[in-house]
Amino acid sequence: MSVLLQVQGLTKSFGGNRAVDDVGFELKAGELLALIGPNGAGKSTTFNMVNGQLRADAGSIRLEGQELTGLAPRRIWRLGVGRTFQIAETFGSMTVIQNVQLALLSADRKVFSFWRSAADHRRDDALALLAQVGMVPQADRPCSVLAYGDIKRVELAIALANQPKLLLMDEPTAGMAPKERNELMALTKQLVKDRGLGVLFTEHSMDVVFAYADRLIVLARGKLIAEGPPLLIRDHPKVQEVYFGT
Ligand code: ADP
Ligand code: MG
Repeated sequence: MSVLLQVQGLTKSFGGNRAVDDVGFELKAGELLALIGPNGAGKSTTFNMVNGQLRADAGSIRLEGQELTGLAPRRIWRLGVGRTFQIAETFGSMTVIQNVQLALLSADRKVFSFWRSAADHRRDDALALLAQVGMVPQADRPCSVLAYGDIKRVELAIALANQPKLLLMDEPTAGMAPKERNELMALTKQLVKDRGLGVLFTEHSMDVVFAYADRLIVLARGKLIAEGPPLLIRDHPKVQEVYFGT
């Protein structure tokens, strides 16, 4: 598979604190890459530089060769970098399918004031997206009545509406029971393989990371200390030190 995301020399300080320090890695299309590390390691800061919420002090971030650093978040989103949030966000009073139709409106550059027409907008495409996340049976229910795991599925469909090449997921399974968590990750993995999507995700549960990630990168105090397939990382001495203090 081709290289989708290439990060080199990425650096960001807050005051005197180097939150991200000369970090480099690559992510291929069709790959599920986990970014792990203890609290404060620099995971969210890295994410926020990739999606443009934060400006890097130094380094480059390229999507299929195109430089993203310095571009506005909206432009980066247009180029194909999608994201989901740690706390799933949908419009509770709207139905599942309306939420996806609204995302399609936005992806089509229709302005938000046209939201009233969302009810008619690309209903079949919205249904196709809901089929991909297994939410067709709940299409006409308001999001406010859904179980949390189902809201996360809708959120995935919303992110897919813009046809991202790269999806950033910051702790996608936070607050989920093990069964929901496994379902969400299995679904994500399937989307990655079916669509050739690249996914960069952070995750606290090592069970999830080892079960689903194709590859891991490990940050500690802003530095990339290890990278490789799950089995190699688990026994890596630096990772043992950071996680278990051995
Ligand atoms: P992680 O997501 O791995 O827990 P973060 O990227 O949130 O880590 O934070 C990395 C470091 O940068 C921490 O020391 C944190 O306190 C600091 N930091 C993060 N965001 C800010 C900010 N907006 N202002 C000041 N310091 C920040
Ligand atoms: Mg974080």
